[in-house]
Amino acid sequence: MPVLRDVVGHEQIKKRLRSALVKGLVNHAYLFGGPAGIGKKTAGLAFARALLCRRGGGDACGQCDDCIRSEQGVHPDLHVIRPEGATIKINQLRALQGGASFTAYGAARQVFLMEQAEKMTLAAANCFLKILEEPPPGIVFILVTDDSARMLPTVLSRCQQYRFSPLPREQVLQVLANAGAGRDSDSASVAAALSGGCPGRALALLDGLDKRNAMLDLLMHIVRERPGSVFLPVDELAEREGLADFIDYVILFFRDVLIWQITGSTELIINVDRISYIIELAGAYARPRVMDILITAEKSSARLAGNVNQRLVLDSLLFKITGLGDDDRG
Ligand SMILES: [Zn+2]
Repeated sequence: MPVLRDVVGHEQIKKRLRSALVKGLVNHAYLFGGPAGIGKKTAGLAFARALLCRRGGGDACGQCDDCIRSEQGVHPDLHVIRPEGATIKINQLRALQGGASFTAYGAARQVFLMEQAEKMTLAAANCFLKILEEPPPGIVFILVTDDSARMLPTVLSRCQQYRFSPLPREQVLQVLANAGAGRDSDSASVAAALSGGCPGRALALLDGLDKRNAMLDLLMHIVRERPGSVFLPVDELAEREGLADFIDYVILFFRDVLIWQITGSTELIINVDRISYIIELAGAYARPRVMDILITAEKSSARLAGNVNQRLVLDSLLFKITGLGDDDRG
């Protein structure tokens, strides 16, 4: 569990939080919003640690009893509330309304970090608002949500809101390295590129990269060997889901080819580990043909959603990729 200074990125947010800590101007309720996997909960826990650190200052010291307990996840004044089943229910909050539960164990504060805060039931949300009407001293709520649009405006307006923005690729890579997940740098680069600036998503993607590599290897094989589809190793594609994934990778790959053709730069390329092959294909395929493949792949994706013969969908896409169905390619 990091301290604020070790949270990667989100500089403006960290600066404002640390300033509030130093000045002693801590609000009773915060809302951390933004896409899933962007680091809201990590920042929330770091902020909670700083709030509970008995040495005070703009961050957790990392050494006092409070910091050691919060790092071990056993601090008695740090409470994490998450949905029980589909929702956060009023009884998860009602316990907080009794004064006794606010007798802090050692620290001057009680911190409640609420995950997926948009899942509060109406009753729970009203209970939350009631607590904030006369907040017991030292109480701090940190609400975390991917979907603040689903929250009551009255709840939002009572919180100091922070919107987390996607991280640059370099910082996503930094998070992966910190998590010890970036050893294979090619895979880490691809996961970072595909993550949309969300390190949590990059970590999840790293797990799925083996499958992605197999799919791209298959695509390379198809482009190089131009086999008739009957001879394809299509086991992986037999399932509708597998075929849908394959088409997605075809789209991402030829999108990269097109981007290289247009920009001549690797900056926006997603499949960074296949760059030499992307450049090779960008030279071998005329731009209209690449666009034709992309359009066909998009259509295939849409057709697959309907009740169609997968074999036909796959064949027409493969013909387009290999050019075997075109008169000019013979
Ligand atoms: Zn401390």
